Amino acid sequence: MEDNLIKPLKQYFGFDKFKGDQEAVIRNLMDGNDTFVLMPTGGGKSLCYQLPSLLMKGTAIVVSPLIALMKNQVDVINGLSENDGLAHYMNSSLNKAAINRVVSDVQSGKTKLLYVAPESLNKEDNLAFLESFEISFFAIDEAHCISEWGHDFRPEYRNIRPTIDKIAKFRGIDKIPVIALTATATDKVRSDIKKSLGIVDAKEFKSSFNRPNLYYEIRQKVSEEDTDSQIIRFLRQHEGKCGIIYCLSRKKVEELAQKLQLNGFKAAPYHAGLDTEVRTMTQDDFIKEEIDIIVATIAFGMGIDKPDVRFVIHYDIPKSLEGYYQETGRAGRDGGEGICIAFYSPKDLKKLEKFMDSKGEAEKEIGRQLLQETKAYAESSICRRKMLLHYFGEAYPKDNCGNCDNCMHPKHPKEASEALLVVLS
Ligand code: ADP
Ligand code: MG
Repeated sequence: MEDNLIKPLKQYFGFDKFKGDQEAVIRNLMDGNDTFVLMPTGGGKSLCYQLPSLLMKGTAIVVSPLIALMKNQVDVINGLSENDGLAHYMNSSLNKAAINRVVSDVQSGKTKLLYVAPESLNKEDNLAFLESFEISFFAIDEAHCISEWGHDFRPEYRNIRPTIDKIAKFRGIDKIPVIALTATATDKVRSDIKKSLGIVDAKEFKSSFNRPNLYYEIRQKVSEEDTDSQIIRFLRQHEGKCGIIYCLSRKKVEELAQKLQLNGFKAAPYHAGLDTEVRTMTQDDFIKEEIDIIVATIAFGMGIDKPDVRFVIHYDIPKSLEGYYQETGRAGRDGGEGICIAFYSPKDLKKLEKFMDSKGEAEKEIGRQLLQETKAYAESSICRRKMLLHYFGEAYPKDNCGNCDNCMHPKHPKEASEALLVVLS
C-alpha cells in the first residue's frame, strides 16, 4: 500500500494536506475495513472515497441519492486527469449509447469510480454487469437516507446490503469493504445505518459538528407580509451576496421568488415541480453567480458545493433539526460569514403536524418526535449552537458561543440558565 498519501493528494486534487480525519479514514478503508464517517457538510467526505478509489485495484461503486450530485462529482473527477472515463455515473437519465460507453469503460478497467443511484444498483437487469468487474469497495454517500429517522429517507437504500452480498457471492469473495458517509450524527440514524448496511463493527470516525462561522437566529413569524418585508430588508442590507431561502410549499417558493424579482433582486425559484432542465439551469446560474438568491423547497441543495453562500433563510420552520442543520450547513462552507435565520410560528408547527395525517402510525410517531425537538430548539432561550450540538450527541464546552441570537441578545438570562440545566440533564 502507498505510504505517502500526500503525494497522490497533491497530484490528483492539488491539496497540500488532509482535512480532519480524512487520512485516517482513507488508511482504514485501504486496509480493507468497513468504515463509518460522520463529518459535517463541507467537511470533505467525498475525498475519503475518491482518493482511495484512484489508488486501489478495481472500480469503486459510489451509491449517491441524486442525479445532480452524481453529475457534479463525475465532472470534477474527470477534470482531474486526461482519462475522461475515470469516473462515470449510472442512473435513469442515461440513454442506450451512454450506458454502452459506461459498460465498456468500466469493463476495460479505465473507470475507477462508478456512481450509481440506489435504484440502478438494486435493479435486477444491472446485476450481471455489476458482477462482471472487480470492485474495490462500496461507498454509501448520504448514508442517512437509509434511516426513517433521517430527513431524507429513501427506501431503496435499504436494499443495498442484499445487492452487495449477491455480487460478493457471485465473485466468490468473502468481503467487499464498505464505507458509509453522512453528516447526520444522531444516535438513531447512526445505528440504523450500521444495521442496515451490515457494518456494525465498522470503525467510526466522527468529527465535531460545530460550525463556528455560522450565526443562528430564530425570528418570530407574525404574518407572511411581515416576514416578506423582513426578508426584503435583510436582502437590501446584504445586496449582491448569495443565499438560499427555503420555503415549505412550492406555491410560496413561486410567490416569494416573484416578489423578490419585482423588488429588483436576482432571484429564482427551485422546486421539484419544475422541469429538470430549468432546475439544472437555475442551479448552474447560482453557481456562476448570475443569480444571487435561490428561493427553494428542500429539493434544492444536497451536494451543491458553492463555497460562498452567505445566508440561509428558513421561511418556515423545518420538520427536523437534522434537516435544519443540513440546510443551514450550506452557508459559509469557505469558513466565511454564514447567516442562518429561521422564521418560527407555533401555527406552522401545527401545519406540519397536519401534513403527517396521511402517514402510517409508526411514521407519524417519528415525525412528531422530530417536530418536538424542532419546537424545543425554536422556543429555547439558551445557546442555539449548544442545543444543536447536543442534539448530535456533542457537548459544547462554552455557555456563550458569541454567534447566535440567544448569546448575543439574551432575553432572560436567568430563565436561560435554568432551561440549560433541563436540556443537559
Ligand atoms: P462534504 O461531502 O463533507 O459536504 P465535500 O466532499 O463536498 O464535503 O468537500 C467540501 C469542500 O472541501 C470541497 O470544496 C473540497 O474540494 C474541499 N476539500 C476536501 N478535502 C480537502 C483538503 N484536504 N484540503 C482542502 N480542501 C479540501
Ligand atoms: Mg458530500
